[in-house]
Amino acid sequence: MPELPEVETIARTLRPQIEGKRISALELLLTRSLQGETELFPRIRGCKIDRVLRRAKLLLLFLSTADAPAHAGEKTEKNGGEPSLVLAFHLKMTGGFCILPEGTPPQKHTRIIFDLEQGGHPATRLFFNDIRTFGFCRVMRPGELNAWPFWRALGPEPLEGEAEALAAHLALSFRQRRGAVKAALLDQSLIAGIGNIYADESLFRAGIRPDVPAGGISEAKVLKLAKAIQDILLLSIQECGSSIRDYKDANGKAGAFQNSFAVYGRKGLPCPLCGQTLESARIAGRSTVFCADCQQ
Ligand SMILES: [Zn+2]
Repeated sequence: MPELPEVETIARTLRPQIEGKRISALELLLTRSLQGETELFPRIRGCKIDRVLRRAKLLLLFLSTADAPAHAGEKTEKNGGEPSLVLAFHLKMTGGFCILPEGTPPQKHTRIIFDLEQGGHPATRLFFNDIRTFGFCRVMRPGELNAWPFWRALGPEPLEGEAEALAAHLALSFRQRRGAVKAALLDQSLIAGIGNIYADESLFRAGIRPDVPAGGISEAKVLKLAKAIQDILLLSIQECGSSIRDYKDANGKAGAFQNSFAVYGRKGLPCPLCGQTLESARIAGRSTVFCADCQQ
């Protein structure tokens, strides 16, 4: 599943190619790929993509109708009063995007097509592709985003602010938790954007066993963990994310951070620090790899 660095990479590769473009037509090829108020879907047509943002593992497109074709000056009030929309994509297991030339037919796993134009001329097609079809696009009015329970439940962004602030948040959140620290890191309401890969890699970097109770970790180690989380996420973003199976950025390029994994997917291989064989256990319902020597 794409985690924070992968969705961030997708946002970064989409941004220069779709921001400012107008959605001239759209096609829903799989009904369940669309969530929320489906009546809003047709209203996407004619909107301009103002901003591409990421929050947690969500990719957001903020649309406006503000400068819809109008008689300059005269109808600005009317046009400005039209509601804008937000599209929130959750990529789940295999969701992704690609940008292709105008007229390109849908691919095998294309679920939604957005035809984009610039300056009144057809420009490109944005495909939302999804092999396993767990991903979705939710169409909302801006005010509805803040009311969406999924959105409201999201914890803080790990890369916003200093490591010390993140550590203080983690320490406070961990205090009452008897469950494994890995489960805490996977809890999107505690910290947003971390999944199996970056939980394992961060815990290794911080020297923390993934199965120790979150509430029992010392403040010094929580700070180490906060720094490790930020380091690992930033390193992965630099490498355009990790491609294990299907993940590709919006240009169809795979990430490279999988080549830097210390533990994830390396069960039975030597620990990069001490050489001891890496162990695997099921923690928080997920396959987890760690070094019993380096992680205490
Ligand atoms: Zn080791």
